[in-house]
Amino acid sequence: MSDSIEKVLIIGSGPAGLTAAIYAGRANLSPLCIEGLIAGGIPGGQLMITTEVENYPGFPEGITGPELMKRFRDQAERFGTKFVTADVDKVDFSERPYRVWADDKEYKAHTVLISTGASARWLGLESEKKLTNKGVSACATCDGYFFRNQDVCVVGGGDTAMEEALYLAGLCKSVTVIHRRDELRASKIMQERALKHEKIKFIWNAEVVEVLDVDAGTVNAVRLKDTQTGEERVYPTEGLFIAIGHIPNTQLFEGLLDFDDLKYLKTKPGTVETKIPGVFACGDVQDHVWRQAVTAAGTGCMAAMAAERYIAENEG
Ligand code: NDP
Repeated sequence: MSDSIEKVLIIGSGPAGLTAAIYAGRANLSPLCIEGLIAGGIPGGQLMITTEVENYPGFPEGITGPELMKRFRDQAERFGTKFVTADVDKVDFSERPYRVWADDKEYKAHTVLISTGASARWLGLESEKKLTNKGVSACATCDGYFFRNQDVCVVGGGDTAMEEALYLAGLCKSVTVIHRRDELRASKIMQERALKHEKIKFIWNAEVVEVLDVDAGTVNAVRLKDTQTGEERVYPTEGLFIAIGHIPNTQLFEGLLDFDDLKYLKTKPGTVETKIPGVFACGDVQDHVWRQAVTAAGTGCMAAMAAERYIAENEG
C-alpha cells in the first residue's frame, strides 16, 4: 500500500480518461491513470477494437483506433501521467481522501475522475459466447472485412444496428437485419438508408435463440423465434453481428453514486460533477446519447479542469 495521496486519480484510459490525463498533467497535477483492461484485455477503451476513425478532427486521412489511442497515451505520458495497467475492483468515496483498489493495491486520491466507458451488450446466449470471434462479433468495423462477399446478419433495430448493416452492405454479399419488433428504433435518416439499400433485408418480430453451429466451431446459421407466434426456424448465415446497444461500466459505483434509468452515471446538467464533491465522471460512462471519441475527449477536458478547480478551492 502506498501512503502517498494522488491529486488526481483517473479510472479508465479511453479518449475521456486520457484527455483528462493530458489536461491534469499540464496543470502539474501528475495524475495517476489506472487504465483498465475493458477492451478484450487491453487498455485504451472501445477505440482499441475499432479500425479506421475518420471523424476525429485533425486527421483528414483517417487514423486507426489503436494508433489514435497510442497518440493520446503518449501525449498524456509526456506531461507526467503515471499509468497502472489493472482493473479497479473497489472504490470508497465515503471519506476524503478517496480510496481506490486495483489488483489488491490501494490508492488514495483527493479527486477521482471516472471514465470507465461502456461495453457492447450481448444477447447472453451460450452459443453466442462460444462462437464469439468465430463468426459472432459486436463490431462490424473491426471484423466486417473477414466476411467479404458473404451473407451476414445483424441483430438490433437502433442506430448502431443500421450503421453496422450499412457498413457491412459495402463489404458483404447480403445483410439481414433481425429485429425483435416490427418497428425500428433508429433515427429516420438511418432507417431510410438501410430500408432502401438493395443488399439489406429485414426479418421482423424475430429473436435469435441459438447461434449454430457450436460443434462445427463456426457460424453457419441462427435459430430464430417469431416473437408473435413462438414459431422457430433456422436461417442460414455466415456471420452474426450483435448491435443491441451498450452497457455502461458502472457496476463499481453501485450504491455510491446516482444513475439514470439506463445505469449511466448521473452528472449535474452541463457539468461533469457527480453527487460527491471531487468525484467527476466523463466520457461514455455518463453519456448514452453522443458516445463519440471527440465528445468523450471534451468531457475528459472538463473533468480535469473541474478537478483542478476543486483542488485549488479545497487547498486554499
Ligand atoms: P439503442 O438502445 O438505441 O438500440 C438497441 C436496439 O437493440 C433496439 O432496437 C432494441 O430493440 C434492440 N435490443 C436491445 N436488447 C435486445 C435483445 N436482448 N435482443 C434483441 N434486440 C435487442 O442502442 P444503439 O447502440 O443502437 O444506440 C445508442 C445511442 O447511440 C442512440 O441514442 C443512438 O441514436 C446513438 N447512435 C447514433 C449513431 C449515429 O447517429 N450515427 C450511431 C450509433 C448510435 P427495441 O427497439 O425493441 O428496444
